[in-house]
Amino acid sequence: MRLHKSTLRRTAADLKRLVTGTITHVSVSEPVAALTFDDGPDAEHTPRLLSLLDRFGAAATFFMIGEAAEKNPCVVEMVASAGHAVGNHSWDHPSFPQISLGEQWRQLRKCERALAPHGQKLFRPPFGHQTAQSRLLAWGMGYQVVTWSLVAADWLDNEAEWMADHVEKEMRPGSIVLFHDSLRPVLNPRYGDRGRTLKAVELVLSRLGDQFQFVTVPQLLARGRAQKKDWQVEGKPEFFAQLREPDGGQWRYASATRMSGRLN
Ligand SMILES: [Zn+2]
Repeated sequence: MRLHKSTLRRTAADLKRLVTGTITHVSVSEPVAALTFDDGPDAEHTPRLLSLLDRFGAAATFFMIGEAAEKNPCVVEMVASAGHAVGNHSWDHPSFPQISLGEQWRQLRKCERALAPHGQKLFRPPFGHQTAQSRLLAWGMGYQVVTWSLVAADWLDNEAEWMADHVEKEMRPGSIVLFHDSLRPVLNPRYGDRGRTLKAVELVLSRLGDQFQFVTVPQLLARGRAQKKDWQVEGKPEFFAQLREPDGGQWRYASATRMSGRLN
């Protein structure tokens, strides 16, 4: 049998997607979509968000930071017992391409322990930063890697109304939408305030609640076919240099990357 060049190219593309392919949305025939919340749990904002979701009968997915989960085990429990999905967002939010493979493994494992018994085998890479190597590691540890197809850009200085308008306009059946119920690290400590995100979510649910059913990522995956994208994204040194801890101090991994010579 002779293999045509086009067949080989297709096979190579399939293999590449297997290695670096990451779920961004789901092909569905019904009006269902998934809201996701990263960087929590937060003792104040996550419970407020839970009441909001409950009021609109919406389910969501929370990609939690292990360190925050360990500090707020009752909130993790509340999220899971309300029927939402809990996923892994690393132990303390480093950019995976900036740390060693061994450290990446420890980040995933330590977060997994903090989320037990509620965590599901879903991983969202911090900042969405991923290499083929870190993608393979997550696969080897049994994780599905889930990013997003729509962002509210709630890590910036955006007004609730603007975020809600944008999400309303771009929402499609099968969308996976990125929000943050906590924010860490921050580009500016002022952006850490989650009041605007909660307001935006309330507006989205009140405007779209009749048109869409909001479900968890596993429920969405069960309703259709996962759509994957070749997702290899690495952060730039200028971006890391701007990041701050929520209290305004320098981001802990900024100095680590600087020491390794990646930042000047
Ligand atoms: Zn994050």
